[in-house]
Order: sequence, then C-alpha cells, then structure tokens
Amino acid sequence: MRNAVNFKTSALYALLGRCPCCGEGKLYRAYLKQVEACSACGEKFGAIRADDAAPWLTILIVGHVFLPLALAYAVASTLPSWASAIILSALFVGLSLAILPRAKALFITILWHTGAPGAA
Ligand SMILES: [Zn+2]
Repeated sequence: MRNAVNFKTSALYALLGRCPCCGEGKLYRAYLKQVEACSACGEKFGAIRADDAAPWLTILIVGHVFLPLALAYAVASTLPSWASAIILSALFVGLSLAILPRAKALFITILWHTGAPGAA
C-alpha cells in the first residue's frame, strides 16, 4: 500500500500524527511510541526504527534556525539577562518537544515509503 499514496501526502499525514498510509489512524500510541499497526488500514509501523535521526533533525532545526533568532532577540531585548535566559530556555524546550515527534514521524514515513530494510 505504500505506493498507493505519494510521499508528500504521506509526510503531511505523519506530521499531523496520523498514519502515513491512510491518514485516518494514529501514528503514535504515546509521545514517541509508534503504533504496531494502523487501527484504520492495518499497515504495520512497529518494526520501523527511526533511531537517532529524529533527535538529529530536531537539534538541526532548533539549533540552526531558532538559535540565531533567539540570540538576535536577546541582543535587542531590554529584559534582564536572567529573564531572557528563562524565557529562551522554556522556548527551546517547548520547541524541541513539539518538533521531536514530528521529526520522528517524518523519518518513519521516509523509511516506510521507501521500503527501507527493517521497515517491514
Ligand atoms: Zn492507516
């Protein structure tokens, strides 16, 4: 069924936390635990291991896209440095927690769509 849907559609479904195959079932049963199989279409995702790719992409995005913006904010800000540090730390933790499952979903989709070894 992986060839029945194009990659862009699969990636969009996965980024929304849905099955990359049908877009109806959930991809995760917990924060970063993917389901063994889609509840709607039965496609298997339990054997797919994204490993360190998702944290790598999260660090890449947060560190290289948002860090320069945060530094620019810190330089231009009139807040005390301790307040900026707290605000930026909370922002980076929040961004990382928000991006990590989406990055993993993207890599699960890539592995599933390409039929990579270990992707069942
Ligand atoms: Zn499905």
